[in-house]
Amino acid sequence: FAYGSLESTIYALATGGVRSAVAVVRVSGPKSQQVLQEIGQFRQFPLPRVATVKRLYDISGGSLIDHAMVLWFPGPKSYTGEDSCEFHVHGGPAVIHALLRNIGSFKGCRMAEPGEFTKRAFLNGKMDLTEVDGLGDLISSETEMQRVQALNQMTGSLGKLYESWRNDIAKCLADVEAFIDFGEDENIEDNILENVHGRLEFLLKIMKTHLRDSRKGERLRTGVTVAILGKPNVGKSSLLNILCRQEAAIVSDIPGTTRDVLRATINVNGYPVLLADTAGLRYDPADIIETEGIRRALKEAQSADIIVLLVDLNDPKLTCVSTERQLLIQEEIMGPLNWNEDMLSLVEERTLIVGNKLDLDRNKQLAVREDLFNAMISCKTSEGFDQFLSKLSEQVSTLCADPKSEEAYITHERYRSHLENCVLHLEEYLQESRKWSSRPQDCNIDFALQSVPLKNAMNSIGCITGHFGTEDILDIIFRDFCIGK
Ligand code: GDP
Ligand code: ZN
Repeated sequence: FAYGSLESTIYALATGGVRSAVAVVRVSGPKSQQVLQEIGQFRQFPLPRVATVKRLYDISGGSLIDHAMVLWFPGPKSYTGEDSCEFHVHGGPAVIHALLRNIGSFKGCRMAEPGEFTKRAFLNGKMDLTEVDGLGDLISSETEMQRVQALNQMTGSLGKLYESWRNDIAKCLADVEAFIDFGEDENIEDNILENVHGRLEFLLKIMKTHLRDSRKGERLRTGVTVAILGKPNVGKSSLLNILCRQEAAIVSDIPGTTRDVLRATINVNGYPVLLADTAGLRYDPADIIETEGIRRALKEAQSADIIVLLVDLNDPKLTCVSTERQLLIQEEIMGPLNWNEDMLSLVEERTLIVGNKLDLDRNKQLAVREDLFNAMISCKTSEGFDQFLSKLSEQVSTLCADPKSEEAYITHERYRSHLENCVLHLEEYLQESRKWSSRPQDCNIDFALQSVPLKNAMNSIGCITGHFGTEDILDIIFRDFCIGK
């Protein structure tokens, strides 16, 4: 990390670009107090963290800029850890422009870069990197469950866990280094290395359980993917439309990058769901375009967390072919996609079979087959949607982290790869040290190298939280050990 020049004072408009009633301008850095004083012309400077209503003045001509609310946050008790202040002005573009121009005219003040306030908060030790990520996720969270997960992370749930693991490893490292340096000393316990082994094995077990999370936290952050599959004309596009329309919290309607996969994000009971409407599946595609559509449908089906297989309850062919779930899935998905039969159980596991066009109701025979269908709906009358949505929501929630539980989930791929590295380093240490700890008198062993895997393990976790360096190990050696020399 380049610590950059923290001498500069940065400022920026903190509220959105659209015209709003109130706009907030933030300032952080050593000039904050001077900026606030000269623009506010105070006889009595505002008390820390107390909102004060004030007239703001142009610093060159002395004319009025606006009536505003101002706040003074002396460091280190501020968001960035530095002296900072805030101006809550009226949201007109000209007001904002006049204020920004005034702040910018102070020597040593410049516009902030994206994320620079938070970067300073991190550099000043106010937040670790997981908390920074949590803040970013909170700002972009679109559903209730995403909000709760991001908020937990922003307030340190994941950072504290990882930091405690790093601390555990640091203590083990301190013990190992003490053994290497002072192994002969009577103050060093005899079984110190076995003790370290036990602690590391315990930690490894916890870390591996944490890693075996089926990506539930990441999925909650990024959304559960649902592919709608089925023959042409069964009502796939109608289903997508109705799901988007019914859902109060539609987030966006993104036209597919491909011509024939339509995407939409919806909110299912607080969980984000990314829907994909695919081209109709059939055995004998009419032309190249349809063949390509089916190829793309296959891609969606392969990667989707959930497949919604839509069938027309009034399809006369359906009655004779499909008497079982597996047969139906084989006939409607596996066959047209030319999919290996070994995949069947995997596909079945994540497929919801939904019968559509219940309103036409010509075929009572299928409509009573509740063992075959997870839900029966009509896109025309909306019949059966409550049942369908509750089935979908049930499936979606089991694929996502429960942010209201005590458990902390991995939310970013980056954490996973660093944690996997950490596990490898710890295993490497255990494997090697089992060899040398049984014969420490062997002079072929370079003891200086033995603790390297533990240092690497610590740094792997340090990469997640943004804590590097080994100076804290020294502290632990001198705090926890009474070497007495
Ligand atoms: P897709 O090819 O699978 O995407 O099917 P569409 O959504 O384009 O629908 C094909 C046709 O079926 C359209 O004429 C729809 O109006 C009709 N349709 C869809 N759902 C229903 C339903 O529940 N009941 C009835 N009666 N017609 C439906
Ligand atoms: Zn369609």
